[in-house]
Amino acid sequence: MTCKCGSDRTIRVSGKCSDLAFTQIDSIDFEHDGYIPHLGLTPGLGGDYIDLTICLDCGTVQEWSPKSDEDLVGTLKDEGLIESSDDADAEEWED
Ligand SMILES: [Zn+2]
Repeated sequence: MTCKCGSDRTIRVSGKCSDLAFTQIDSIDFEHDGYIPHLGLTPGLGGDYIDLTICLDCGTVQEWSPKSDEDLVGTLKDEGLIESSDDADAEEWED
């Protein structure tokens, strides 16, 4: 694999972490213990598995797809890992 910087020096790290992963995204105040959310950031990240290839010369994660906070929140809502505003309203009515 050749990085955008032109280097072909990469490290690939992979593992099956199942539900033992911890995910933290400070910009949206999100923390999660369990399976890795499927955020579409790179093909090898989500669910049971972490599989990342990183350039040893520039530090870029290969095949990384930038996401806005809005995209991340939408995906996490779809996965049921954060409440949608409709759910929050429903809980308020239950009180
Ligand atoms: Zn690079």
